[in-house]
Amino acid sequence: PSFFEVVNYTPPDAIFELTKTYNADSTARKVNLGQGTYKDENGNPWILPAVRSAKEKIKDFNHEYLPILGLPLFRELATGLVFGKHSAAVQEGRIASCQALSGTGALHIAGTILKQALGRDTTVYITNPSWSNHRQVFESIGLAVREFNYSTSAGVNMQSLIQTLNEAAPKSVFVFHASAHNPSGWDCSPDQWKYIGAIVKERQLFPLFDAAYLGLTSGDYDRDAFAIRYFADELGLEIAVCLSFAKSMGLYGERVGLCAFSSNTPTIAAAVESSLARLIRVEISNPPAFGARIVAAVLEDEEVYAQWRNDLLTMSSRIAEMRWQLYQGLIELGTPGDWKRITEQKGMFCILGLTPDQVLHLQKEYHIYMAESSRVSIAGLNGSNVR
Ligand code: PMP
Repeated sequence: PSFFEVVNYTPPDAIFELTKTYNADSTARKVNLGQGTYKDENGNPWILPAVRSAKEKIKDFNHEYLPILGLPLFRELATGLVFGKHSAAVQEGRIASCQALSGTGALHIAGTILKQALGRDTTVYITNPSWSNHRQVFESIGLAVREFNYSTSAGVNMQSLIQTLNEAAPKSVFVFHASAHNPSGWDCSPDQWKYIGAIVKERQLFPLFDAAYLGLTSGDYDRDAFAIRYFADELGLEIAVCLSFAKSMGLYGERVGLCAFSSNTPTIAAAVESSLARLIRVEISNPPAFGARIVAAVLEDEEVYAQWRNDLLTMSSRIAEMRWQLYQGLIELGTPGDWKRITEQKGMFCILGLTPDQVLHLQKEYHIYMAESSRVSIAGLNGSNVR
C-alpha cells in the first residue's frame, strides 16, 4: 500500500500545456496566441528598454536576504504607483503592504488574510468568465467561490453585476479586474465603476482588485488605476490590491508583485501588515530580491521611469494596432461573424467565439495555437503573421 493512495491525479494546466505543444511544433510559421505574454513585432519576447537600463543600475548588489515584507524601496514606490502619490490613504499611512510572488502570490496572500479577517464562511465572487486560476487560488485557501455573469459578446453585463452585488451577503469579497479583464476584454467605464462603488459601499462588500495589466491596457498607468483610486480615495473604502509586474514590466519569470490593503486607520494598517509578515514568514520566509530591485530601479529614477511610460505605450499601441489589422483582415476576407468587438475590447485578450473543433482545426492545419475557449492573446500577432 502507498501513503499516497488517496492522492488523485490532477490534469496539467491547459494553458501551460498549450505552450509546451507549441514549443514542440517545428513548423516555422506557427503562431502562439495562447499564453498572455507580450511579444515584439518579430514575435520575440521583449525585454523593456527601461528594464535593461534598470538592470545596468543595479549591477552591484549582494545576495543577502530581503526583509520579510520585501524590499522597502520597492514597497514604497509600488504602493505610490498604484494608489497615486497624493492618495490620502498613502499619505496618512493607512496602507499595509508586502512584496508578493507576482500577481498569483498576491492573490493567495490577500485571500488568506481576508479569510482571517472576514471569517471562514466568506464567499468570494469571481466573474464568469474569469482568469482560469481565480477559482482554485481561493478554493485552495478554503473559501467558497461563486461566479456571476460578467459579460456578453457585446460588453459588460451591468444588470447581472448589479444584481449580484445587491444579493450578496455583506462582507462578501468581490474580485474585480482593475483593467483589461481576462479573458473577456470588456472593462467597466469610469461611470460604471462609480455606480458599482456606491453599491459596494452601501452593501458593505469587500472589493479585491486583481491588477495584472495596469499601464498595458491604455498605455497610461494612472488611467488604468482609476477604479482602485476611486474606491480607495473618493469612496474611502477598505480594499485589497493584488499587483503584478509580469505584464507591465515584462518581468514574467521574476515573480514580483505587491499585495496591498488600504484600511481605515494607521493602527489597523499596522496590524494587517504584521499579519502579512507572519504569513510571508511561514510560507517563504522572505521574498526573492532580483525582480523587486529591477522594479524599484525603474520607478526610482526619473529618466528610467519616463522610458518605462514610453515602453507601456509601445506595448499597448502595438496590441491596439494588431487588433485593427486582425479586424480589417477578417472583414476584407468576408469572414462570417461580427468582429467589431475585436477593436472595442481592451487588453491582451479577445474571445473569438469559435467552437473547440474549430480551435483544434486551426492548430492542426494552420499551426495557430489558442486556448480551447478560443481566447486569443493579441500580443502573439504581428505584421508578418496576422494575415
Ligand atoms: N490575474 C490575472 C487576471 C491574470 O491574467 C494574471 C496573469 N495571467 C495574473 C493575475 C497573475 O499573473 P502573475 O502571477 O504572473 O503575475
